[in-house]
Amino acid sequence: MFNKKAISIVVLLSILLSTLSYWFYSTSKSRAEHEALMVYEKQLGGEINALISSKGNTSIAIALTLSENPQIKSFLCDDCDTVSAENSIKSLTQHFADYTEFGELWVQVIDPKGISLFRSWTSKKGDDLSSVRKDVIEMIANPRVFKTLGVGKFSLAFKSMVPIFDKQKKLLGIVEVISQFESLTERLKSERGVESVVLVDKRYQGQLTKARTGLFIKGHYVVNKEARPRHLKALEKRSLEEAQDVHVAHDSGYYVSGAYVLGRHLIINEKGERLGVWYTFSQPDEVNFQMVDKLAEKMLYGMIVLFVLLVGLFFVYLFKRQSDQQKEYYQQVLNSASEIIFVSDRTGIVEANQHFFEFYTEVESLEAFLKKYGCISETFAAEEGYLQKTMAGVTWYEYVANHPSVNHIAKIYQAGEPHYFRVKVTSMHSLDKVLFTILLLDITREELYKEQLEQLSLTDALTGISNRLYFNRNLRKEIQRAHRYQTPLSLIMFDVDHFKQVNDTFGHDVGDRVLIELSNLVQSQLRDTDMLCRFGGEEFMIILPETELSEAQQTAERLREIIANSSSEEFPTPLTVSFGVAHITKWDSEKTLLKRIDQALYLAKERGRNRVVLATE
Ligand code: GH3
Ligand code: MG
Ligand code: MG
Repeated sequence: MFNKKAISIVVLLSILLSTLSYWFYSTSKSRAEHEALMVYEKQLGGEINALISSKGNTSIAIALTLSENPQIKSFLCDDCDTVSAENSIKSLTQHFADYTEFGELWVQVIDPKGISLFRSWTSKKGDDLSSVRKDVIEMIANPRVFKTLGVGKFSLAFKSMVPIFDKQKKLLGIVEVISQFESLTERLKSERGVESVVLVDKRYQGQLTKARTGLFIKGHYVVNKEARPRHLKALEKRSLEEAQDVHVAHDSGYYVSGAYVLGRHLIINEKGERLGVWYTFSQPDEVNFQMVDKLAEKMLYGMIVLFVLLVGLFFVYLFKRQSDQQKEYYQQVLNSASEIIFVSDRTGIVEANQHFFEFYTEVESLEAFLKKYGCISETFAAEEGYLQKTMAGVTWYEYVANHPSVNHIAKIYQAGEPHYFRVKVTSMHSLDKVLFTILLLDITREELYKEQLEQLSLTDALTGISNRLYFNRNLRKEIQRAHRYQTPLSLIMFDVDHFKQVNDTFGHDVGDRVLIELSNLVQSQLRDTDMLCRFGGEEFMIILPETELSEAQQTAERLREIIANSSSEEFPTPLTVSFGVAHITKWDSEKTLLKRIDQALYLAKERGRNRVVLATE
């Protein structure tokens, strides 16, 4: 039942859906991966920021502590012993190196004029910083606690400066603590197992005259000396500028290669200036991709459900279309037939063809028809010989279905005109309910023609009154009725006297005219129920149902007189007629009655014509 087209549509649908699913799945997957990576990198970025700010804070804390240290102050008085102070600071920084992450903590003491009085990392001193360091000049002009993350000539470092005052609030000097940034990458490695490359921006390249690691990638200074060469190589291969543009979502970005997830975290100072980038190289399994797997699972189920649903829907559509097409096909077949065809169940019509509505023009739909008539039999004419609503105790359609060999005719008046239909009914029992297929073949023309022919066969061609055939048929019927119901029935027979002479004298045509005039005259004198027939030649019969002999005799007498007294306008010659009158007896058959009346007429002729003679019983 499914043709090649349907199958190819299903196949096409499957391919389309699979492609779509795959595309949707891969984009969703990459989005979920992106999401997972972003979450991871954001978290890592947070940790990196915490590390940076923690080191910055600790750095200032050390500077603040040192500013209160009497040893430091000894650098600032002219006659104090600086040797023990120097030793003390050096041992302090050594302690830091031994026990804290401040492996290289540099301390410098500067006097209020900007002269460096002491440097913990070198013996160089006595030089004027005010000519090379703007921050020192600013500090002297506006002494305050100051910290910054910045790039010097050595590297990227946290710098903290704290002013020292005497009791009169006069600036005695400045203590500066510098801690290197690079130790943070080792901390991240030990805490998170994430390796890093910290690069200082290219614009500081010229400033880094004594770069500690001596390593640069495309002008970007490599801060951490433990950075792995393969990581440096990986970064070198990438266009760093481009990478910055592409991956800066917030402060975090990432890049996934097979071996690692490259994270990118900006290093920004307190003024918001970008100093460099902290690249992290995480193991892919560090990232929580669970949600990606879950998503994949959900997607798979979703797609299967969607697929099944769509294919199901498609088949439903196919079924529907096929049944619609079939319905349309049958409707066309029904419409192409010349009959009115409709299907009915016991409650009413369920389907009808076009001719049905072409006949019942007063309704536009089946609903309207059912509302107006309920059953089509309501439109059947209640006339004898035609199909009626109920026939022999069953519905008309059951009756017709049960008597298929009989010619069933329904008469239906439409716009005052009678229509005749030959009716055929077939019942369909194989279905869940009994249905009747009903055919109405329009035989109106044939019926009317038949009626006309019948009429013609019962009419006398000359006079237009009923003929002998009609007489015979009706006489038989009336005798039966009279016998059955014991009702009176009379018969009059009359014959024109000497009619031969009329013909002989005036010609046959005039004779014909006389016969016409005579029948008109007699007909005009009779009751509606009386039947005047031409029996043959110039002999006529009148059947008078419900009429006693005496009444019939009177009628005959009256007719005789009227004819005899008719003027010459009606007849070219005086005309007389002889009458025989008979009344039915219970022994009478057609034959005996006719015989008796014939004898009566014969007697009337015998006795001189122009008279009425009653038949003997
Ligand atoms: P009576 O009955 O009085 O004995 O005399 P009659 O002359 O009428 O009797 P008869 O039966 O001998 O003649 C009947 C005539 O009627 C003979 C026939 O030519 C004429 N006739 C019969 N049928 C017709 C008809 O249709 N047209 C005409 N013009 N004449 C007819
Ligand atoms: Mg005659
Ligand atoms: Mg005659």
